[in-house]
Amino acid sequence: MSIITNIHLLRNRRTKIVATLGPASKEPETIKQLIQAGVNVFRLNMSHGDHAFHKTAYNHIRSIADKLEAPVGILADLCGPKIRTGKFRDGQINLEKKAKVTVTTRDIMGEPGLIPSQYSALADDVKPKDRILLNDGALELVVNKVSGTEIACTVIHGGVLKNHKGINLPGVNVSAPSLTKKDREDAKFALGLGVDFLALSFVRRAADVNELKTLIRKSNKNAAIIAKIEKPEALENADAILDVADGIMVARGDLGVELKPEQVPVAQSQLIDLARSKFKPVIVATQMLESMIENARPTRAEVSDISYAVTRSADAVMLSAETASGAFPVDAVKMMDRIARQTESYLWKSSSYDIMANTDAPTSIWNAVSTATAQLARDLKVRAILVISQSGMSAATMSSARPAAPVVAITGHAHNCRRMALLWSVIPVLASDAGSVNPNELARRVARELKIAAKGQFVLLVRGFHSDPVKNNPSVTVLSV
Ligand code: PEP
Repeated sequence: MSIITNIHLLRNRRTKIVATLGPASKEPETIKQLIQAGVNVFRLNMSHGDHAFHKTAYNHIRSIADKLEAPVGILADLCGPKIRTGKFRDGQINLEKKAKVTVTTRDIMGEPGLIPSQYSALADDVKPKDRILLNDGALELVVNKVSGTEIACTVIHGGVLKNHKGINLPGVNVSAPSLTKKDREDAKFALGLGVDFLALSFVRRAADVNELKTLIRKSNKNAAIIAKIEKPEALENADAILDVADGIMVARGDLGVELKPEQVPVAQSQLIDLARSKFKPVIVATQMLESMIENARPTRAEVSDISYAVTRSADAVMLSAETASGAFPVDAVKMMDRIARQTESYLWKSSSYDIMANTDAPTSIWNAVSTATAQLARDLKVRAILVISQSGMSAATMSSARPAAPVVAITGHAHNCRRMALLWSVIPVLASDAGSVNPNELARRVARELKIAAKGQFVLLVRGFHSDPVKNNPSVTVLSV
């Protein structure tokens, strides 16, 4: 038995990498190195940094990606109704186990025994016996009594609490709107820049996504919406959320606070399967290489975590503080790239890419044609599957079958080309004549230009998926290059 498969068996990595940009990675030279190390999509996190910071970062990414001719997407991540503590007089307080403390919604400085909340409706939303988790769930309070703006609590798990730490309220119906005033301002700013994706935090239901859709439409802009699944309500409504969103993120940081930790990997797997069944991309996020914020090498558990997400065929894996504020941003991307390639090489060699079982025939045309194409590609051992995909829908449909051959998606639209950077295995290609030339000739030309197939080798050409059933006439052609 050969355990170690050649890591370079596949020229193109199938799983995409999303990297968060921050103070540690904002310099043009670092951005260049990050793209060269394999970043497919940059994330601008609106929870940190001001508009001037994000504008400069955006412009650097676009100009460097253009120079490198790399189809790199940009995602702006909106904060959503993240609830945080206010500030403390000494920057922090200590919470002793069993101590009585008060959480207040008054706009004051905190002090020992008094925790200010920036969320003004907190006292209306919680009731006795509810749990209040602080600092990513590290600290826990239980509510004893609510009177006016004051919430009397007992400390269950104590520790140090610093300024502006997150507050989670598991099981509490939070009344804050999903799209806050700040989110609206940030969304308009990011759309003005021209971002390819907007991620919405703390989504609870499909209507939250529709609200952002309306804002995008009214702004006359075009950005894909990634719904962040980080609340139990979102898990319950995931089916309906995925019907209206363009993709999802498994935001394991907050999800892991709101759920029991052991429930998160199962939720992750279910969300990957659900997203694939709806031909939409899914990003697995948070703490993937957490120890590389400080260390040059990851823990074995982190390596396994990425490998598991790759094996379960997530479209993308994401780095947060590792690239935004860590000491080794480029090394973290290189490490993620190597882990994904090693696992993918093994999966490819053992023919165990996860082709979706058709248990429930009759199935949709999209599912039937894409899985049949994946099987045909395997049977004929073609060099690639080329898709002519103006909107990106055909590319997403083909990608969701997780074929062993790479998917080359040709589009005439620059924005759609960058959106396709997030899709599993998809190599986006911009061709201005994509809508006007003979499709067979276009596919042959692209295959030769990319050196993906030599003269006489076979590729498959897929086109014709459409959301309108009348125009939905998919076809598959076996082409000799
Ligand atoms: C998360 O909670 O896992 C996440 C990705 O969101 P954020 O980084 O915005 O907290």
